[in-house]
Amino acid sequence: MQTFDCIIIGAGAAGLMCAATAGQRGRSVAVLDHANKVGKKILMSGGGRCNFTNYDIGPDNYLSANPHFCKSALSRYTQWDFISLVSEHQLAYHEKTQGQLFCDNKAKDILNILLAECDKGSVSIQTGCDIHAITPIEDGPLRYQLATSMGSFSCQSLVVATGGLSIPTMGASGFGYDIAKQFGLKIKARDAALVPFTFKGETLTLCQSLAGVSLPVNITCNDQSFHDSLLFTHKGLSGPAALQISNYWHSGETLAIDFLPGASITQHIEQWRQQGQKASPLNLLSQLLPKRFIQQWVEYQGLNGLMQKELAQWRREDIARLSQALQHWQTIPNGTEGYRTAEVTRGGIDTDGVSSKTFEAKTAPGLYFIGEVLDVTGWLGGFNFQWAWASGYCCGQQL
Ligand SMILES: Cc1cc2nc3c(=O)[nH]c(=O)nc-3n(C[C@H](O)[C@H](O)[C@H](O)COP(=O)(O)OP(=O)(O)OC[C@H]3O[C@@H](n4cnc5c(N)ncnc54)[C@H](O)[C@@H]3O)c2cc1C
Repeated sequence: MQTFDCIIIGAGAAGLMCAATAGQRGRSVAVLDHANKVGKKILMSGGGRCNFTNYDIGPDNYLSANPHFCKSALSRYTQWDFISLVSEHQLAYHEKTQGQLFCDNKAKDILNILLAECDKGSVSIQTGCDIHAITPIEDGPLRYQLATSMGSFSCQSLVVATGGLSIPTMGASGFGYDIAKQFGLKIKARDAALVPFTFKGETLTLCQSLAGVSLPVNITCNDQSFHDSLLFTHKGLSGPAALQISNYWHSGETLAIDFLPGASITQHIEQWRQQGQKASPLNLLSQLLPKRFIQQWVEYQGLNGLMQKELAQWRREDIARLSQALQHWQTIPNGTEGYRTAEVTRGGIDTDGVSSKTFEAKTAPGLYFIGEVLDVTGWLGGFNFQWAWASGYCCGQQL
């Protein structure tokens, strides 16, 4: 039997941060992971450059059945704390857009920082370790026993940092949710999020004909809007705008898309008419939007006839029809690409059963849940890692 003060299941972002924090406070820590390598999602994140945090982070950047749950940890370990940590390690980084911070070199630099921080304390990391069973015990201060492929372990504090369900090929599993259920916690409905949309029928044909085209849009669903780039793909819609709104979308719901955010096609047309523009409507629209997009779009919307008319002959209804098609397009996705490509899992362990200060389960003393396994989901842009760092650090302070 191997005995530790703390055992952390999951050597991902939250688990490693928690291990480093508890280890540096003098606790003996074991981190157990069933994957063959630690921090796989860190390595693949941000296109290999890890968008590790954001300059501008607040509770409004997160979804949860309890929107207040994330506030405490986010205020006790902020983006500035993580920026100080990476600066101490002389990490070169840059802001890409909208406050998003990326490594100049490789995502591996972030993983190396976490591992170096773990090395400052007594932290032992075991990969390829399958956990078969967890049993509560009462043996002095020891509270949990684990049967694993590497033998038996016991500990005073057990931390579950197994992440969400996205990218099963990278080691994602539902084990954390199973542990939560075993100890009487509830699970909020889960779904793939930060994920591209799929379509069928004519809209799929449109997306396929425009695959590779990217343009700025305003996208809205359930009273939430994002202004970002939309990318047409062979399956449907992707790009930051689609991923962001996917956090708020449920099956069967409508997306509203404005392809001229911050502008008004009605005003443009009135201006062109006042100027006596003789160019074809299609050519004029190509000044505002990619030509390939506008050609396919006009066909998809059945506006070919309108495009043959000179602007001077357009009636008020014609302008309204174009405005509706370009600035108020409503479409219902067939679904999403699912956990295979999703960046995160929306939903998860009900935070009502967990302390927002310590991350300890209310029904099981000595058992803690941190990171993405909880029902806290961040926007695209470094928010999910910041949640992992904050929850991992705050929990590590309690162990
Ligand atoms: C492609 C991709 C790109 C992303 N890019 C970004 C980005 O740039 N910025 C950002 O903020 N977020 C990004 N994310 C989201 C971010 O990676 C996660 O939100 C974050 O890693 C969650 O941290 P975690 O520690 O809770 O879980 P994870 O980092 O997923 O770690 C969970 C760990 O638990 C282990 N585990 C799972 N099941 C078991 C089991 N049964 N037994 C033992 N171990 C187990 C896993 O192997 C894994 O090591 C990205 C996600 C993906 C998939």
